[in-house]
Amino acid sequence: MTVMHHHHGATERAAQLAEAEQRCAAAGESLTPLRRRVLDLLLDQHGPAKAYDLLPLLNDEKTAKPPTIYRALDFLVRMGLAHRIESLNAFVACDVGACARSTIFLICEKCGAAEEFDAGHALVDLAEAASKDGFAIRRTMIEASGLCSACQRAA
Ligand SMILES: [Zn+2]
Ligand SMILES: [Zn+2]
Repeated sequence: MTVMHHHHGATERAAQLAEAEQRCAAAGESLTPLRRRVLDLLLDQHGPAKAYDLLPLLNDEKTAKPPTIYRALDFLVRMGLAHRIESLNAFVACDVGACARSTIFLICEKCGAAEEFDAGHALVDLAEAASKDGFAIRRTMIEASGLCSACQRAA
């Protein structure tokens, strides 16, 4: 598993969490201590994490039962602070803080690395093409699979 996320300092992490808190508040929601802790854990991960991988890390919290963590993860996804990668059945913190609705992931079939990809206008173009066809896209989550550059070099 390669390291996808840069190592952030404690100050930067505090700023990220504070921003997440504001985002939730703006949406009339609350980043509860548990939700905040789950987001913090996701930000610690070097790639997509399954709920069951996160559970032991929350062991200090008596409330950390599977439904609790799933609810916290669902909340983070709903807020755009995290994404659920269906093909891996895993969760990853949003690379840019928060995506309103739509994003693209490039997933390596060999090492499992998942990179949140800025595809420029691709998603806008898709939405425009769909609207010409009479469809209003509300959310797009593209999971593209293939080989990352490191695995291509190793091949
Ligand atoms: Zn994102
Ligand atoms: Zn790879």
